Amino acid sequence: MLNESLKFPKADILVIDDTPENLNLLSAMLTEQGYKVRSVTKGSTGLRGANAVPPDLILLDVNMPEMNGYEVCQNLKANDRTREIPVIFISALGDVLDKIKAFAVGGVDYITKPFQLEEVLARIENHLTIRQLQQQLQAQNQQLQQEIHDRTKAEEKFAKVFRSSPNPIAIATVSEARFLDVNPSFLRISGYSLEEVIGHTATELDLGKNTVAFAQKIQLLPENGSLYNQEFEFSTKSGEVKIILISMELIDLAGVPCALLIVNDITERKRLENEFISLVSHELRTPLTSTMGALDLLGAGQLGTLTQQGQKVLSIATTNTERLMRLVNDILDLERMKSGKIFMRKAKCNVAELLITATEAMQAMADKLQVQLIVNPLTVELWADADRLIQTLTNLLSNGIKFSEPGDRVWIGAIVSESKTVESPENQHSLTKKNYPPNYVLITIQDEGRGIPEDKLQIIFERFQQVDASDSRNKGGTGLGLAICRNIVQQHNGKIWVQSILGEGSTFYVLLPLTD
Ligand code: ADP
Repeated sequence: MLNESLKFPKADILVIDDTPENLNLLSAMLTEQGYKVRSVTKGSTGLRGANAVPPDLILLDVNMPEMNGYEVCQNLKANDRTREIPVIFISALGDVLDKIKAFAVGGVDYITKPFQLEEVLARIENHLTIRQLQQQLQAQNQQLQQEIHDRTKAEEKFAKVFRSSPNPIAIATVSEARFLDVNPSFLRISGYSLEEVIGHTATELDLGKNTVAFAQKIQLLPENGSLYNQEFEFSTKSGEVKIILISMELIDLAGVPCALLIVNDITERKRLENEFISLVSHELRTPLTSTMGALDLLGAGQLGTLTQQGQKVLSIATTNTERLMRLVNDILDLERMKSGKIFMRKAKCNVAELLITATEAMQAMADKLQVQLIVNPLTVELWADADRLIQTLTNLLSNGIKFSEPGDRVWIGAIVSESKTVESPENQHSLTKKNYPPNYVLITIQDEGRGIPEDKLQIIFERFQQVDASDSRNKGGTGLGLAICRNIVQQHNGKIWVQSILGEGSTFYVLLPLTD
């Protein structure tokens, strides 16, 4: 049976020596130690062997006929295949070894005869280790070079995509939501120059009314993860308002957590969508009115008496037609408000009267759902469109009632205060920014209902946004109420927002200046 070292030799050593005794001695000594040994007596044969299968190390006699050791070594070093092989010179007793020359032609070491077994082995081991380390270093270096090459290529690719993307792209720091870089498409859509954008936040540049929410989304990116197609309003440098969708991804730039923001301008799509919705709504109104008329006639029994089953079916048809009518009216209402076709007819009105009228209008619904309505009227004069404010308050009360359980309570009340005393950070921000008059009334509508999740607190004020997709079916809403409320409040230079705790209830705030 072969011993282990023969099966897996430690290294391949080529011995070139013209003295057969030396060859035999070295060969036996090294084989004994587990090396694979090839021995040749001529320099030229040695060169051929080394070139055919490069060994790990060469032991090379200095004095040989035809081609001496120095020449052999020079040849080895001149050949790419053999250049890196460590060469140890051997010199016989009495030979003059030109050490300087030995090193000059590329030798790494020398041994003089008579051989000391330990010394020979130690030197061989030493140079094999050095060679091995060299090879490892070379491999690592090559790998590093490859990685650098790959990375440079990837960066070039990213830079190309970044620069030529038709979609606006921006990179902002997570810590402060400051822009680090934006692409030409971003500059085109915003109207700003690179110098004006870099190092600034969206709020500093006044890129729209949602900039605070936008910055929050960036800062919460590490916690909440990527964000896809979130809708924002975007103000360009010239003041044009665009509707954009933003997707965000967390990236690491040289150890700095950043947000990669990809923007999609959907202004035109939205305009067409709105046009389509309003067109369809207009077209639906006429047949719907006639359907309602027909259902009324049926219900009044003017076309014959209906069976009990018929009455039931009629009632379902009426409820659904009414819902559809409400939806169509809400859409048209909102569209007219947005396009400025509806003017607020402002006059002096009393806040207490508004609260009481709205509560009375909702009393029947509250009774039906066994919700208690509590009103805390406040007598103070307000310059506003009473009908539109009552529409707002009834909608907020209706939501409060709808999303409560039997036995729950809904409160409506108001306070007059100085702008500085209102406790909403968002609200204070707007107040200082827009310079509201010092006195205003804050109307609150509070319920003990199911509450609204944190991430929906803002978007429920957008069209057709509901916490639960089944809300419109189950609760009979259209998803347009809050959008209409917001529009009315904004047309009074006011502000509407909500605070809520899931499972505990919600409080809607309507802040209105007392004077125009
Ligand atoms: P809807 O006609 O569906 O009530 P709104 O625009 O008035 O439309 O409200 C949008 C959504 O906001 C509702 O569908 C509901 O999911 C949520 N919402 C509004 N008010 C409340 C509230 N008081 N409690 C819980 N959820 C509410």
